Amino acid sequence: MMEVFDEGLHSGVNLALDVGTVLYRDQTGLQDLIIFENSTFGRVMSLDGAVQTTEKDEFIYHEMFAHVPILAHGNVKRVLIIGGGDGGAARQVLKHRNIAVTLVDIDRSVIDLSIKYLPSISNGAFDDPRLDLVVADGCQFVKETDQKWDVIIIDSTDPHGPGEVLYTQEFYTDCMSCLTAGGVIVTQNGVPFVQAEELRNSYDRLGLLFQDVSFFMATIPSYVGGPLAFGWATDNKELRNLSEATLADRFLDADIETGYYTPDVHKASFVLPIYVKKILTTIE
Ligand code: SAM
Repeated sequence: MMEVFDEGLHSGVNLALDVGTVLYRDQTGLQDLIIFENSTFGRVMSLDGAVQTTEKDEFIYHEMFAHVPILAHGNVKRVLIIGGGDGGAARQVLKHRNIAVTLVDIDRSVIDLSIKYLPSISNGAFDDPRLDLVVADGCQFVKETDQKWDVIIIDSTDPHGPGEVLYTQEFYTDCMSCLTAGGVIVTQNGVPFVQAEELRNSYDRLGLLFQDVSFFMATIPSYVGGPLAFGWATDNKELRNLSEATLADRFLDADIETGYYTPDVHKASFVLPIYVKKILTTIE
């Protein structure tokens, strides 16, 4: 009898994945981690019962997470990744020349087991001399550091367990103090159709700190419930209104290979549907 992975993350809607070989299943001391084979998505990693990443669709998520802020900013030298222990976002960032990355993940096991069982996702990023790896709570790290970054990517789990602190006003405020002038923060902000409250909370909290706050979206097939929202926050209002020509020039100059990201996909991703705008504007 084929085992089924039931991701009961959202009430009323469920993702069920057939489980081939289970490559790893254990508590890491912080999170319940499973890595298994699935006939459609390849190897899948889940943390605390929620799908984090899969071999077959991770490129959509990680390309948008990295290339949208970097190509919008136009002059990035340093990127901070909070979470992201699978190494997928780091791999995409390191495709850009002359960028240094600091990756801060709370769980060493996620990093080690991702390198062992999901090597195609980080694809050597953890061996890149431009990557500085820190195993720590991201919330504590941004509070204590005196360094600054041009882009901060908050590639966190959902706001449960160790990831809960990465959606707080205090954390966003500390992230803002680690950002260079005109820098950009992008966040993993859930699937609005089934995680509306999460989206609204981040919008309100980032809105207290930054001039320009919005979201860009992409559909990740293994995240149930519709397109995922990436949070966007910066004091440089120009960055979200760049012309496609400017983005196309920067993309060409960056000379990076992608499977999802293009300059026009970038522009289109900021166009929010009415149901999402309603979540952001409805007076509660
Ligand atoms: N794509 C995934 C998603 O959409 O849910 C996120 C993937 S990434 C693997 C999530 C990472 O966040 C995990 O490696 C986890 O260890 C890390 N994490 C959770 N809480 C953290 C914290 N407080 N500080 C730093 N990293 C944290």
